[in-house]
Amino acid sequence: MIKDIKGLHHITSMASNARRNNTFFTDTLGLRRVKKTVNFDDPNVYHLYYGDEAGTPGTVMTYFPFADVMRGRPGIGEVSETQFAVPKGSLSFWHERLTAQGVSNLQIGTAFGADRLHFSGPDGERFALIEADGDARKAWTGAGIADGVAIQGFSGAKFRLHDTAATAELLEFMGYQRAETEGDVTRFVIPGGNGADVIDLEALPKTPFARQGAGSVHHIAFAVENRAKQLDVRKALMDTGYQVTPVIDRDYFWAIYFRTPGGVLFEIATNEPGFDRDEDTAHLGEILKLPARFEPYRAQIEAGLTPLAA
Ligand code: ZN
Repeated sequence: MIKDIKGLHHITSMASNARRNNTFFTDTLGLRRVKKTVNFDDPNVYHLYYGDEAGTPGTVMTYFPFADVMRGRPGIGEVSETQFAVPKGSLSFWHERLTAQGVSNLQIGTAFGADRLHFSGPDGERFALIEADGDARKAWTGAGIADGVAIQGFSGAKFRLHDTAATAELLEFMGYQRAETEGDVTRFVIPGGNGADVIDLEALPKTPFARQGAGSVHHIAFAVENRAKQLDVRKALMDTGYQVTPVIDRDYFWAIYFRTPGGVLFEIATNEPGFDRDEDTAHLGEILKLPARFEPYRAQIEAGLTPLAA
């Protein structure tokens, strides 16, 4: 069994409009844009990262805004809901704020003993704010949302699957422990994690497969401390029969990817070197950063990208 996974690192989704996406995450939800770069495989598209002050692993929501891409169709084989932790007692603040800003599909609920507020993002993607007691992570307050209510990072994510057995087995191999089941949802928790510790598996045997598009989660990344541990994890996964990519340099972390039995694309990402590798923490995310191989084309690339609000 793998012992080096520390919870989530980041979650990456697709959007149809970069400006709207940027405004939603930095203004409506009050996260910090910690990096403005491009998709390393398609430099005509932004890669935008939102998180806490430093972009600490376990807080980082990232997007590829492909202009005018068709909206995805929700279904099985994907991450169906991205879940953020907020302080206990903060949901009434959030309900009022999201209502005032015209956020759609607000729905209050309780699951696994915690109150939560579900809502949709600009491309119909599903989110929940979940009240957490005693989450010690320090929220970013630079966007004007106060410390007692601001988002502290991910609490986790929910997957929808036809059959949860193979994914459950994989999560347990990755170090997760099976916790309670409520209805069709079984919870898995990583011990000693970074705060983004929960994966919920929802079994929906009759629902059609998802079709990826705007609003879909592209992949979900799990955190390991460093490159040595990543190589150990890669070997353990390959010894178990998973087809894992070679290690890829993403400038702010090192990444490996593999497709899981339920259809969800997993990444294992390193906590090193971090988002301050090429910018001061005080100025993260302000200017367009490019990987070295695209620097010669900066002028063309910048000309093709929609300018974003600071
Ligand atoms: Zn990723």
